[in-house]
Amino acid sequence: MEKYKQFGFKLTPQRLAILNYFNGNKEHPSADDIYRAVSKSFPTMSFATVYNTLEALRNKGNVLELTIDPNKKRYDPNTMPHHHLICVKCKRIIDIHKEFSVSVSEDMTQGFDLIGNHIEFYGVCPKCKSIALS
Ligand SMILES: [Zn+2]
Ligand SMILES: [Zn+2]
Repeated sequence: MEKYKQFGFKLTPQRLAILNYFNGNKEHPSADDIYRAVSKSFPTMSFATVYNTLEALRNKGNVLELTIDPNKKRYDPNTMPHHHLICVKCKRIIDIHKEFSVSVSEDMTQGFDLIGNHIEFYGVCPKCKSIALS
C-alpha cells in the first residue's frame, strides 16, 4: 500500500487491483485486457471504472499511453525512457532498454528543446514467424 501513496488519488480496491495488475507487467495491455483480467476478481467492476482509472494514472504520469496500435490504446507502466519492438502480425510489444544515439540537426528541430525520443521497431515476432512456416 505504502508505495502507492504517490498516486494522489483514493485507492479503492478496484484501483488497487489495476495497479497490482500493472506491477511488473511488460505486456503493454490494452484497456480491454486489463478489464478482462481484473474483472475476474471484481466481477462488478465496469469497463468505465477501468478506463477512468487508466486516465487518472496517465494524467499523473504513472502509466504511458502507447498509440502504436491505432485500433486500441495500450498502456505501459514502465515510465522510464525505453523503446519498443512491435510485431506487425500479433501486435505484441516488447521493451528495448538501450540508448540509441540519434542526432537531429538544429535546422530539423525547428526551435524545439528536445527532451527525449521513442523508437518503434516493426517486424514479425518469432511466434508469428513459426506460424507462417508451419
Ligand atoms: Zn507476433
Ligand atoms: Zn514498454
